[in-house]
Amino acid sequence: MADERRAASLNGISAKPCPVIYWMSRDQRAGDNWALLYAQDAAIRMKQPLAVVFTLAPSFLGAAERQYSFMLEGLALIESRLEKLRIPFFILPGNPPDEIVKFIKKHKAGALVTDFSPLKIHREWKDKVSGRTRTAFIEIDSHNIVPCRLASGKQEFSARTLRPKIHRLLPVFLTPVPAVKRHPFPWPVKTERNDFKMLYKTLKSDKSAGRITWLKPGEEEAVKVLKNFINKKLNGYGADRNNPAKDGQSNLSPYIHFGQISAQRIALEVQRAGKDVESTESFIEELIVRRELAENFCFYNGRCDSFEGIPGWARKTLDSRRKDIREYIYSEKQFENAETHDDLWNAAQREMVNRGKMHGYMRMYWAKKILEWSRTPEEAFSFAVRLNDRYELDGRDPSGYAGIAWSVGGLHDRPWFKRPVFGSVRYMGGKSIRARFNAETYIEQNRN
Ligand SMILES: Cc1cc2nc3c(=O)[nH]c(=O)nc-3n(C[C@H](O)[C@H](O)[C@H](O)COP(=O)(O)OP(=O)(O)OC[C@H]3O[C@@H](n4cnc5c(N)ncnc54)[C@H](O)[C@@H]3O)c2cc1C
Repeated sequence: MADERRAASLNGISAKPCPVIYWMSRDQRAGDNWALLYAQDAAIRMKQPLAVVFTLAPSFLGAAERQYSFMLEGLALIESRLEKLRIPFFILPGNPPDEIVKFIKKHKAGALVTDFSPLKIHREWKDKVSGRTRTAFIEIDSHNIVPCRLASGKQEFSARTLRPKIHRLLPVFLTPVPAVKRHPFPWPVKTERNDFKMLYKTLKSDKSAGRITWLKPGEEEAVKVLKNFINKKLNGYGADRNNPAKDGQSNLSPYIHFGQISAQRIALEVQRAGKDVESTESFIEELIVRRELAENFCFYNGRCDSFEGIPGWARKTLDSRRKDIREYIYSEKQFENAETHDDLWNAAQREMVNRGKMHGYMRMYWAKKILEWSRTPEEAFSFAVRLNDRYELDGRDPSGYAGIAWSVGGLHDRPWFKRPVFGSVRYMGGKSIRARFNAETYIEQNRN
């Protein structure tokens, strides 16, 4: 059964007994998907067919070839899974709100169900759709374990303030997700498979940031990566997760970002595994509290992807340091080409460009140094966002915007000792970070 508590009506209109459409966007999976379940329940209740639609925008927040190919290969696998469930899958290239409105009008839909995103671009698309149809339009939070709207009604100050709210609701929401059934009411017309060659041709993405091959996309691969993490890395996660020279993180973020696996499934499997308690708690804190704190930030702060979104105290302290002399100043191109004086920073940049995933600990250092070596904090923020979104497989995500706002703009943090350029925003020095792990090994691993 679907979970009504995850639902929010976007236009207050009731469903009519006509076909139901699930507009899949952020949760790109057939399994463990509350939005798909909700759509199927509504369709079965009204004895109606069900279709899933994905609208493919030709460009999206600076996404390059690597992210589009990871996503499209994942979508091709969903098509096969949905076919077995007798649910057709339509991928429509073009402007997303225009395409979905045309589709629901053409098929006289009785309800449009979609998944949740706190990002401005998705919310603008949804507002456009709401304004142009009289079809019931319902959003289901299938991305968060505790639905973002229910976890908190405001932008939270820090993990300390969100944590108790999340933990109070976890017993209610951290439950197994039912399976989607073979749909009993077939789509009235026979549907062709999507033509992926043609779909690729509609994209305007930059091909120079090449594809990533060491991580394979799709729901099944995501589960393999999860199992490997639980069996081989979870026991050491507490100690190893902050060591960039070791492969101690889960590598699940690209799958979570594209919705190829649900955080709910990951949390349940990790808890069930009964591994080292401290490591399990530390992983759950990152996966649930930190990740859902980022969702909270972007949902309640419309400027989460820019300098304007940072807390007032941080803006004030950074403003007071505008005239401080920067020892080094680099252009975006120099950052992009890993041409700074710092071999550790350059290694992190190369890791991101070459592997599509920089180690989490290095991401903090990377962004803080961009602040230190840029002309203004605004410039630093936008360099970091553009590079992160272009090269990270998991980029264009609330966790990225929150991570950059934390590093550059003191978000979810407190004021520290005053320093040049940073004011009281927390500083990270090259010497102290090098002392924490074997930096030479990491530099060697990312030399070219
Ligand atoms: C400057 C900067 C940029 C970042 N950019 C991104 C980004 O674009 N996309 C992204 O998903 N994350 C981003 N992060 C957060 C974090 O670094 C990554 O989520 C993590 O490194 C992903 O690797 P993993 O899945 O192997 O992590 P693991 O350590 O295995 O963690 C498991 C999961 O917990 C969540 N998580 C872990 N750390 C954080 C965190 N600090 N904040 C929020 N959630 C977290 C993620 O969903 C992650 O997949 C950024 C952090 C910083 C400081």
